[in-house]
Amino acid sequence: MEDQIQIAVIGSVAAGTSAAAKARRNSESARITIFEKDTDISYSACGLPYYVSDMITDRKLLTPRDVDFFKERYNIDVLTSHEVLQITPEEKHLKVQNQATGQTFQQPYELLVIATGASPIVPPIPGADAPNVFPIRTIKSADSLKLFIKQSKPARGAIVGSGFIGMEMAENLVRLGIQTVIVEKAAQVVPSLDADVAKWVEKHLIENGVELLLGDGLAALNTNESGVYQVITESGKMIPADFVIMAIGVKPNVALARSAGIAIGETGAIKVDKYLETSIKGIYAAGDCAESFSRITGRPVYYPQGSTANKMGRIVGQNMTGAREEFLGGLGTRIFKVFDLAVGQSGLTEREARGLGYEVAVAHNIKPNQQPYYPGGSEFLIKAVADRQTGNMLGAQVVGSHGVDKRLDVFATGISLGIKVKEWFQIDLGYAPPYSTTKDPVTYTGMILANELERGTHLITPDELERRRSGDRPLVIIDVRSPEEYAAGRVTGAIHIPLATLRQRVGELDPEADIVTYCNAGTSGNAAQNILLNNGFKSVYNISGGYKNWKMLKG
Ligand SMILES: Cc1cc2nc3c(=O)[nH]c(=O)nc-3n(C[C@H](O)[C@H](O)[C@H](O)COP(=O)(O)OP(=O)(O)OC[C@H]3O[C@@H](n4cnc5c(N)ncnc54)[C@H](O)[C@@H]3O)c2cc1C
Repeated sequence: MEDQIQIAVIGSVAAGTSAAAKARRNSESARITIFEKDTDISYSACGLPYYVSDMITDRKLLTPRDVDFFKERYNIDVLTSHEVLQITPEEKHLKVQNQATGQTFQQPYELLVIATGASPIVPPIPGADAPNVFPIRTIKSADSLKLFIKQSKPARGAIVGSGFIGMEMAENLVRLGIQTVIVEKAAQVVPSLDADVAKWVEKHLIENGVELLLGDGLAALNTNESGVYQVITESGKMIPADFVIMAIGVKPNVALARSAGIAIGETGAIKVDKYLETSIKGIYAAGDCAESFSRITGRPVYYPQGSTANKMGRIVGQNMTGAREEFLGGLGTRIFKVFDLAVGQSGLTEREARGLGYEVAVAHNIKPNQQPYYPGGSEFLIKAVADRQTGNMLGAQVVGSHGVDKRLDVFATGISLGIKVKEWFQIDLGYAPPYSTTKDPVTYTGMILANELERGTHLITPDELERRRSGDRPLVIIDVRSPEEYAAGRVTGAIHIPLATLRQRVGELDPEADIVTYCNAGTSGNAAQNILLNNGFKSVYNISGGYKNWKMLKG
């Protein structure tokens, strides 16, 4: 432990306060000062969408700790309205400005934490600086939007960007009775998801009255004397809007670090080693201003999340007070709620994994979150991605109304620990009818992927099925569900052979054809596939996620 060491921290939301508090827990003697240019500290930005809609009415609940708390509990000095203007590493001091008085002073440090966070991206387009354009980041930014809504009573709002903040804001604007349109440059919502998973979210948004304008970026904002009244898209569409929420992402605040000669990484965030030390010894960086690395690939990534910021802050606190704790990297695990859906992802999507050159196996698993006979549950989708070479799970995306958070976190844990696909079935998860099915959907997903990787019971995605239609080989698609289900809707071109009759009818099928089986979600389709494989058919595929998945994407 260092005695009487002088620690300075820049930024006092998640990462800065975590670093300072951990340093104090480890060392009574360190002198710790946090500089914060804002007046709010240690707040929960994550609660802001619900604060805007008055679901959370008490501002204090989002800012539970103030300067006095840090002094009394931790003997940490937090100087709010104090902006750090410059870091001089050679002399180990900061130039700080007291924003209340305008005066500047020098603050010496022996160890420094840069926790300057990130800022919302506001594109340099006409109208972006209008008073009714709201990036949501700080408590004050949410205060401004809240006040605007109260005073102006807008009928219609546009959200530019459909990441998790855009999604959460959409739900909360609708809660306020505001007609909401989302403008998104990508061809899907939530661009961090695979497009087939995003379809579930798009459907749910539309069901909840949100208009979607996808595949069309923001070009300009038309203004009059009151501010923006129209959003202009790249394709020239003119969308009326009484206000705009700018939610196209964040950029790390690195200017201070860069001007001090600290290296910036390839993601644009501050480069750190595995101990979260920057390129200058004794200066650490944590949270949204710092680069992370992927626990799967080892490559630098940028994960601006409160969960990561808190973890990094704690590790910095440890390492400033004598420990050598490694940051093990992240999976970008995230979850958000939009209306009645929970949407989570951890690790690589199929698109990312293919882009990185992995030989990918993919499974869509649509299952009830609990025993269907027990009231209150619903079906949800798991899409999991595995590496054919190593048998490792690379990532999972989970979307549904119940039980999503639990499955996501099991996936995150298993992926972190490098559990092989074939071992997922063996994870001893808890079961009772209100909570799960006897084989939990997570273990089921492991079974499906293990079958694909090891048994050769191949899955075919709806996209791949549609591509095969124009191939050279004959293609036979077999619906093995009941006559009623087949009559109510089927995959285009599918013939009907109910599972119970398949063994008697295998002679009708062309052994040279590609045969695709399906049921509603995959289980009976897999049973049919096994019958055909056991009868010597060589090229048999089961539709990943069954008819439900095909219908969501192609129906
Ligand atoms: C609406 C919303 C919802 C979110 N929901 C979630 C969620 O559900 N889950 C999740 O994991 N994450 C969520 N996040 C992200 C999460 O809030 C951030 O990842 C987290 O706040 C990052 O903390 P930080 O301390 O690194 O940076 P910041 O929160 O950006 O704090 C940095 C601080 O540094 C100060 N600062 C910067 N430069 C200086 C300077 N030169 N001198 C003095 N002070 C300075 C800034 O004023 C700021 O207060 C959400 C964010 C928003 C906006």
